Amino acid sequence: MTPKAQILELRKKLNAYNHAYYILDSSTISDFDFDMLLQQLQQLEQQYPEFDDPNSPTKRVGGGITKNFETVVHENRMYSLDNSYSKEDLLDWEKRIQKIIDGPVNYTCELKYDGASISLTYEQGKLIKAVTRGDGMQGDNVTENIKTIKTVPLELQGSFPEKFDIRGEIVLPFEGFEAMNKSRIANGEEPYANPRNTASGSLKLQDSTETAKRPLECLLYSLVGTELPVKSQFESLEKARTWGFKVPEIATLAHTIEEVMDFVTYWDSNRSKLPYETDGVVIKVNNLLQQEELGYTAKAPRWAMAYKFKAEQVSTKLLSIDYQVGRTGAITPVANLSPVALAGTIVKRASLHNADQIEKLDIRVGDTVYVEKGGEIIPKIVGVNISQRTDTIIPVLYATNCPECNSELIRSEGDAKHYCPNDEACPPQVIGRIEHFISRKAMDIDGLGGETAGLLVKEGLISDYTDLYKLTVDQLLPLERMAKKSAENLVNGVKASSQIPFERVLFAIGIRFVGETVAKKLAKHFKNIDAIAKASLETLEAVDEIGIKIAESVVLFFQNPVNIQKIDRLKSFGIQLEMSAESQEGLTDKLTGNTYVISGVFHQISRKELKELIEKNGGKVSSSISSKTSFLIAGDAMGPSKLAKAEKLGITMLNEADFLKELL
Ligand code: AMP
Ligand code: ZN
Repeated sequence: MTPKAQILELRKKLNAYNHAYYILDSSTISDFDFDMLLQQLQQLEQQYPEFDDPNSPTKRVGGGITKNFETVVHENRMYSLDNSYSKEDLLDWEKRIQKIIDGPVNYTCELKYDGASISLTYEQGKLIKAVTRGDGMQGDNVTENIKTIKTVPLELQGSFPEKFDIRGEIVLPFEGFEAMNKSRIANGEEPYANPRNTASGSLKLQDSTETAKRPLECLLYSLVGTELPVKSQFESLEKARTWGFKVPEIATLAHTIEEVMDFVTYWDSNRSKLPYETDGVVIKVNNLLQQEELGYTAKAPRWAMAYKFKAEQVSTKLLSIDYQVGRTGAITPVANLSPVALAGTIVKRASLHNADQIEKLDIRVGDTVYVEKGGEIIPKIVGVNISQRTDTIIPVLYATNCPECNSELIRSEGDAKHYCPNDEACPPQVIGRIEHFISRKAMDIDGLGGETAGLLVKEGLISDYTDLYKLTVDQLLPLERMAKKSAENLVNGVKASSQIPFERVLFAIGIRFVGETVAKKLAKHFKNIDAIAKASLETLEAVDEIGIKIAESVVLFFQNPVNIQKIDRLKSFGIQLEMSAESQEGLTDKLTGNTYVISGVFHQISRKELKELIEKNGGKVSSSISSKTSFLIAGDAMGPSKLAKAEKLGITMLNEADFLKELL
C-alpha cells in the first residue's frame, strides 16, 4: 500500500470508530487500539506532509493557536426565539400561525439545550467553518476549537448536499463539568460557575489543545441551505443523524398544542435525568414550506417558539439595596443578597426593576425573599416570605438623590423609572454614552473598549464622544497599561470610524429610543442629519413605524444646543452624517404607501429578495392579509383560504412577473 492510501485508510477507520463511540454510543475498539492507530496516522502525516488534511482526525487533539478570532458575517442570520410560558401562550401562537397558514400544521418538539450556539458549514462533506452566534448577524470563527469536539463530524457519511450549514448547541454535560471542577479544586483553582458559561468560554480559548481537553458535546438541531433534501424539520433531524451528527432522539412530532403540552409537561419533570442542561422546549412548525410562509419578525422566526421551563426558586435574605445609574440616567435598584445557590450558580445580587416593583411586592431590607432565575442573566426577586418578617423591618425609602453625582432624581409622569437629570456631568452617563458610541453595532471602534473609555473620562482626556477624535498618541502614553502599540491602535481605530455609515452614526449618538432599527428607518427616510434635526413632530410621526414617543425624543434631542454642538464637531471630523450615494442606490419611492403580502413559492427571485425589493422602493411587507393590504404577490402553491380572503377583500393579485415588470 502506498503511504497515501495508508493515510486515507487510517483516517477513514478512525472517523468510523469515532462515530461509533461518540454518536452511536457503541464502542467497537479498545481505547488502546484507537490510540495506536491515531499515533500511526500522526507519524505518517509527519513523514508525508504533502498529504496533510485540515480535517484529519489527528486535528482533534488541537494545537492551533488563535490570537484574534476572525469575525464572520452569517450568510443566514442566527435568530433568537420568542418565549412562551403557558398553554395559553402557545394557543395564541397557534392562532397567529393560522392567520397566515391554510390547512393543518404539525409541530416538532425538541429540547432547548442550554449551551453556546454554533453554526457549522460543510462543503463536499467536510467541515469548513464553525462560527459562534455572536449578535446573530456576525460571529467569531472558532473552527480550530470546534474540530477538537469529538461529536462534531469532520467528514460526513451517506449522501448529503454539496454545501449546507447546520446549527446546534455546544454543551458541557454535567458529568464532565463536575470532573473538571473536581480537578480544579484539587489544584487550588476556583471552580467554574456553571456548564453553560464554561461551554461558551471554551469556544474562545486561544489554545485549541485546551479546548480539546474539555468534555464538550455538540447537539444539532437545524439545517440551513438552499438545496436541502428534506421537506420538514423532523426529517432534517433524521437526515442529519444519518450523516453522522449527534441529534438527540428525544425530538417528537406533535399534531396539536395538547400534544406539545404533553411533551413539555413530561420533560419539565424529567429533565433532571438528562445528562446536560436544558432550559425549555423548542417547538417548530414542521413543514418547511409553511416555515417559509411564516417568515421572521425583527428578532425571531414566527414558526418557532421556546417554552421556558418554570424557573427554579430559592429563598434568601435581602441585605441591602444599591442604586445603579445607567447610560440614559435611568436608576435601577439592585438587591444585595445573602449568597445562595440557584440553578448551578451562586447568586449574590438580583434586580429589583424600579420603585413601583418594590412597593408592589412590599420588599423590605431584612426580608427573606424568593429569588428566581428566568432567561436573564441577573436573577430577580419575585416575592417576600412575610412569615419571616419582624417588627424592625421597615419599608424601603427609595433613593432621592443620584448615588454618583448627588443630583436630585426626577420621575416623569407615566415613567416607571427614576432618572438622574445631570446627563452632562454624571459619570456613568457620560461614560455610558461613550461606551455606546464606540460599541460594535455603533461606531465599532477598534482598539478601544469600555474600560479604557472610562479611564479616559476619569483622567480628563475626554468628556464626550466627540473628544475621541482629538486624542493623540502622546496624550495616551502616560495612561496605565497603555503601550505605544495600543495607543496607536486606538487613535487609528477612531480615525477609521469616519467610514461608518450614517445609519450607524445615528444610532451611535445615543438619542433615547432610537435603536438600530429606528436609526435605519430615519436615515433612509431623511437621508441626512440636518433634515432629521429640522423635522417637526408631525413629519417624524409620519414615518413608518415611528411613534410619538420616538418622535418626541428626537425633537428633544435636537432642541438641546449641547447636542447640536456635538453634531457640528462630528461633522468637522468627517463623520458620515448623510447617506452615501452607494447606500441610496436602488432606493425609490415607487411603492410608497403600498402594503404587500407575499405568499407561495417563487422562481425568478427569492422571497427574501422580493421583500428587500419592496422595502427598498418604499413599500411595506406584511405577513397576513387584511383590509390594509394593497397587493398580494402570489407564487405557486399558495393556500386556498388566503386566496379566498384576498378575493373577498377585493385585493389585487400579482404574480412575480407582473410585479417585477411593474417595478422596473
Ligand atoms: P434565545 O437565546 O433564548 O433567544 O434562544 C435561542 C437559542 O436557543 C438559539 O440561539 C439556540 O442556541 C438555542 N437552542 C437550544 N436548543 C435549540 C433547539 N432545539 N432549536 C433551536 N434553538 C435551540
Ligand atoms: Zn447622577
